[in-house]
Amino acid sequence: MQLDSFTLLVAGSSLLILLGGVFFVVWLRHRNTPELLWWSFPFAAGGAAALVYMLPHWDTDFTAIAIGNAARLFAVGSLWQGIRVFEGRRPALRRLLLLCLVWIGLCFIPAFVTSMVARIVAASLMIGALAAMMAFEVWRHRDETLASRWPTFAVLASFTVFMAIRVVAAPWAPFPFGVAPVDPIWLAVFLWLIFGHATFAAVFFLAMTLERREAQQRSFALSDPLTGLMNRRAFADFATRMNRRRAGIRSTMALLVLDLDHFKSVNDRFGHEVGDRMLRSFADVAEANVRPSDQLFRMGGEEFCFVLPETSLQEAINVAERIRNAVAACTVETAHGAAVATVSIGIAATQFAVDVEVLLAAADAAVYEAKSRGRNRVVVAEPSTLRRLPDPGRTDRLSA
Ligand code: GH3
Ligand code: MG
Ligand code: MG
Repeated sequence: MQLDSFTLLVAGSSLLILLGGVFFVVWLRHRNTPELLWWSFPFAAGGAAALVYMLPHWDTDFTAIAIGNAARLFAVGSLWQGIRVFEGRRPALRRLLLLCLVWIGLCFIPAFVTSMVARIVAASLMIGALAAMMAFEVWRHRDETLASRWPTFAVLASFTVFMAIRVVAAPWAPFPFGVAPVDPIWLAVFLWLIFGHATFAAVFFLAMTLERREAQQRSFALSDPLTGLMNRRAFADFATRMNRRRAGIRSTMALLVLDLDHFKSVNDRFGHEVGDRMLRSFADVAEANVRPSDQLFRMGGEEFCFVLPETSLQEAINVAERIRNAVAACTVETAHGAAVATVSIGIAATQFAVDVEVLLAAADAAVYEAKSRGRNRVVVAEPSTLRRLPDPGRTDRLSA
């Protein structure tokens, strides 16, 4: 059995029209992702336009060659615009229109418009360049980790190579790679490659958008809106992951529990809004005094927990003292004068595989001790408290 071009054309076109519709429907539900609209129209229109191949003599008519191919360029270029928008860049519509005009301009040159080799080389060069720019755009924003980013890159890079091969093969390969007489199997292979790339690109574009959306929602659910730090639920997730990873591993880790002193009286004296500002400036001060690899959580109210991986007890004490001094030196301006805060800090550090909850309980006890010793101080947890078995109820409470 041979690949049948006609069936491929009808199936591939229908699939692309359907995928274009899917992009549009998803965009209707998520209007803040305009890239979906940029992708919707070219897939749908590209699918519909591919049916033109079924018309007799489609490749000899000047309008079909000049306008049809310019429209095809515009459709591929719209996919590029969508990728730019997806990566947070502005659309480059003028550059795209210029490319289309260059094509139409070339078609007014008789030697060009009558030479199929020249047309294939020019069109493949232009479409290949657009595909290469899309691949580059996806690759250069790889800092945002999305699992679907790499298959998307692979499809775009593969399409670029496909177009490059077409440029080289145009003078000698059979149509539609080149101009040698049509071989039905080559036409089928060509269609299969075009529709295959387009379908995979559509699926991975959609996957990237949905994956990013999911990641944003997850980070929204795990972050504290007032300070931007991670919240208690994030701490519970972190503890679960950490306990699993640290099982049997000897590495030093320190955990700090920080509680602002007499914070209730700040609220009572200056108002809740000043209290909120103080919590925000506390988070800023703390963030400025830790490493990027340290994990900062707001556990609730004016209580925070910082996890410092690969940190010895002495290093943790230094960090805690630095934060304590910086907080005491920081003032929040109010209508009734400057408000200042101090913080009490409890530290638990270990080089053994102790559950994070055990460290938290020990640091909690240490901060309690700091309060009873007069506040605005750093207290290290008793080593004996670190040997306690984890309380199974603790995780439940944290994740509640
Ligand atoms: P201590 O030194 O013993 O820690 O005393 P404290 O007053 O800081 O502790 P307490 O637990 O009695 O009071 C905590 C206060 O924190 C009570 C609550 O009004 C305030 N608070 C909790 N969450 C927020 C918040 O999001 N914004 C503001 N402005 N205040 C908050
Ligand atoms: Mg307090
Ligand atoms: Mg408290």
